Amino acid sequence: MKLRPHHILCVQFLPDGDTGRGREYKEMETRIKEVMRQPDDTLIEVTKGVDDLCAPCPDCADGRCNNRFGDEASVRKWDARVIGGLGISFGESMSAKALHTLIRSKAPLAFCRDRCPWRPACGVFGKIGG
Ligand code: SF4
Ligand code: SF4
Repeated sequence: MKLRPHHILCVQFLPDGDTGRGREYKEMETRIKEVMRQPDDTLIEVTKGVDDLCAPCPDCADGRCNNRFGDEASVRKWDARVIGGLGISFGESMSAKALHTLIRSKAPLAFCRDRCPWRPACGVFGKIGG
């Protein structure tokens, strides 16, 4: 599975409701939640740019995120905050289990506390604390 940093961190903590991005997106989102909440040996490659969740997303076009709340450049800044906070590198592959342990040792990140606009909807504080 190829995932960009904020999908590795954030998807598992977000609400389970329908995001309105279609069946294929929902299936991939559910798969990420399953593998990050009850982790196994699934290998996850830390990806720069669009990933396996972006691929079925209606906001993805020409290999870029075109979301109205933040385009590819904005999303890459978010990814940079997350990758720095977790201490992982692009191109690195880790098991879901190892990432789960790492996230529980590092999150909520400083970015979660100070900057993230999705903080009110995110369960990271209730699930991990901080
Ligand atoms: S294309 Fe943008 S909005 Fe869609 S999943 Fe990727 S980062 Fe998120
Ligand atoms: S607070 Fe923001 S950056 Fe932190 S886990 Fe939640 S959505 Fe991700």
